[in-house]
Amino acid sequence: MIFEGLAEKLQNTFSKLKGKGKLDEKDVNAAMREVKMALLEADVNFKVVKDFISRVKERAVGDEVLESLTPGQHVIKIVKDELTHLMGETQSKINFSNKPPTVIMMAGLQGAGKTTTCGKLAKLLKKEGKRPLLVAGDIYRPAAINQLEVVGKQVEVPVFSMGDKEKPVNIAKESILHAEKHGNDVVIIDTAGRLHIDANLMDELKEIDQGVNPHEKLLVLDSMTGQDAVNVAKEFNETIEINGVILTKLDGDTRGGAALSIRAVTDKPIKFVGMGEKLDELEAFHPDRMASRILG
Ligand code: GDP
Repeated sequence: MIFEGLAEKLQNTFSKLKGKGKLDEKDVNAAMREVKMALLEADVNFKVVKDFISRVKERAVGDEVLESLTPGQHVIKIVKDELTHLMGETQSKINFSNKPPTVIMMAGLQGAGKTTTCGKLAKLLKKEGKRPLLVAGDIYRPAAINQLEVVGKQVEVPVFSMGDKEKPVNIAKESILHAEKHGNDVVIIDTAGRLHIDANLMDELKEIDQGVNPHEKLLVLDSMTGQDAVNVAKEFNETIEINGVILTKLDGDTRGGAALSIRAVTDKPIKFVGMGEKLDELEAFHPDRMASRILG
């Protein structure tokens, strides 16, 4: 479960704080030292932690808080607000185009869960009444096209493919024409993933980006890779300016460092989270609910 260790440590710190009744600045500082350690152990970006702690401290040591009847509760409320803020405040939804089809480009490194997530997203959108089309734009990995076709069948969403000889940007362009002709109002383009970020991968994404001008560019990241995922997000964002992130494998991530750092580092929201291998295990990301999960 995500935030397992963090939740336990913070709840422990705050139960001490609540038990104290009156608080002074020293108590708040001591608690913040524990919060800082807990966040770092959860693999949250160092600078993000530093800024977070200083924002909480600034708000928590005022007279209004320390002299209130329940100062411990106040401090917890401030931490919760700031955690929510850190993760983006409110839910970030997909920007649908007024003129269908809405084009969504999915990017990410190999193994992050991109192809699976394409299927999950198609399923979710279908449930909302959309008519998605999946597009096989990863022509390099031998099994990728086939994998998308299998996923498409499972979620009962058509898959557009032109085999592995055509350039991905041309496949993307053709898929949009196909969608227009067949009444698909969302096009989800699976793109190539590599094991590492390289110039070819980025050039190809740029080419698709410029060729079809997607309404949404979503980066699929494996939350289990922690700060590596955050660095990947930074690099992709610098090259193709993403609209948001889908964080996968949250079900196996006990620490949560990526979830807590991505927004602050890239200024891009987490829009969805993957909670398991099954195709219905994709959820909208709610910063406030995540913060509540941490603080109990
Ligand atoms: P791609 O190389 O990025 O296209 O990755 P795949 O879609 O092939 O996924 C790689 C592996 O991650 C597969 O075994 C998926 O079942 C698994 N996976 C994807 N998303 C999740 C998730 O949210 N939770 C878990 N536990 N596994 C996931």
